[in-house]
Amino acid sequence: MRIAVIGSGYVGLVSGTCFADIGHEVICIDSNAEKIAALKRGHISIFEPGLEELVVKNAAAGRLTFTTDLAAAVGASQAVFIAVGTPSRAGDGFADLSHVYEASRQVARAVQDFTVIVMKSTVPVGIGAEIERLMCDVNPQASMGFASNPEFLREGSAIDDFMRPDRIVLGLDGPRVKDVMSEIYRPLSPDGARLFFTSRSNAELVKYAANAFLAMKITFINEMADLCEAVGGDVNDVAKGIGLDRRIGPQFLRAGPGYGGSCFPKDTLALMNTARDQGVALRLVETTIAVNGQRKRSVARRVGAALGSGLRGRTIAILGLTFKPDTDDMRDAPSLDIIRYLQDQGANIRAYDPEGMETARKLTDHVTFAENAYDAAEGASALVIVTEWEAFRNLDFAKLKTIMADPVLVDLRNIHDPGTLRGQGFRYAGVGR
Ligand code: NAD
Repeated sequence: MRIAVIGSGYVGLVSGTCFADIGHEVICIDSNAEKIAALKRGHISIFEPGLEELVVKNAAAGRLTFTTDLAAAVGASQAVFIAVGTPSRAGDGFADLSHVYEASRQVARAVQDFTVIVMKSTVPVGIGAEIERLMCDVNPQASMGFASNPEFLREGSAIDDFMRPDRIVLGLDGPRVKDVMSEIYRPLSPDGARLFFTSRSNAELVKYAANAFLAMKITFINEMADLCEAVGGDVNDVAKGIGLDRRIGPQFLRAGPGYGGSCFPKDTLALMNTARDQGVALRLVETTIAVNGQRKRSVARRVGAALGSGLRGRTIAILGLTFKPDTDDMRDAPSLDIIRYLQDQGANIRAYDPEGMETARKLTDHVTFAENAYDAAEGASALVIVTEWEAFRNLDFAKLKTIMADPVLVDLRNIHDPGTLRGQGFRYAGVGR
């Protein structure tokens, strides 16, 4: 199948590369000429484990190419995936669909023979139908079919998630579009068992409902962590105890500084606003958003509490800036709110992250960026683990104790053992334990 993917970001580049790897002929398009030029040289502008190697391999095999020429790419393709960004619109929290509309207009003008237009971007319910109307208006002669195929990959394990999905949600009408989509995904589900066919509006709702549910699960365990702290419980054991119940499952039950990232914050907000527009109050989602909003400042307060004195003039070392490990994505990362709070209290921040510092420099003020964890900790009154990068699991605490001003560890991801740390002379504060 000849496939064009519009938008070569986290989702578009992973999808396009994986489609090529399973045997399709793929052309990835982006309006960012620098990004495309780098991709042509085999360099990717994001950090995603294994992706660069897969890009190089498939480009060398001639199955994966890159261009800024959307019209030529679309004209030669049987299916066009739209994977452009849908961030929160400044001011009202609705999804900003300007990139989706712009890409759709460009695609409509370029379509030649029968082409299936697949919405991979996360768009609110009803937008797929709206896009169909718009594209048919722009090019009434075009022969097009339409599908919604929301993406569920997680940054940091994107290739594996794409190649081994729990399910592939396909919202579409009619056998012609169904045949094309089944053909595209056959290598990932030869017997079709992973394909879930539904209406386009249901597929759009599935994506938002899934993200809202996971955000709610994280927020639930964070509130349980607060209760554990009040009554002397350990949230890790509580999470394990409930997660062993197959009806609940162990994932997304790690207490921490609140959810962030490129999807949960914007998608929960967009879902709440879509529902409000329909006169429906999604009170659980609304509460999740509100509780998570306060979470980051409330965990930041633990730093002062752990120090037992004010933060003014103190140096605080922040380990981990990205919203999760194994990505360089800084969108809505909890670290940003935590740093702002600590700075408001007068602290000086020294920060280190293995992949996120380039972007973090643009999103923060008055932060000193360190070479490594030990450089960040030099002279610090507290070490705060915000993101659970593998490197922060194996820190040399004996060394840290000698270089820090005060031996204080605030472990917002509960990756260290409180007893061991206390045994080494550290004051340890975790989350919910
Ligand atoms: P991104 O910002 O990383 O990438 C979007 C790309 O689209 C950019 O490179 C941009 O230059 C390009 N673009 C914008 N308009 C264009 C146009 N008209 N023509 C060509 N290129 C254009 O975004 P992302 O994180 O890949 O997200 C894409 C969509 O997938 C969003 O709707 C998001 O909600 C959804 N999604 C993201 C993730 C994730 O983990 N990042 C997971 C699932 C779903």
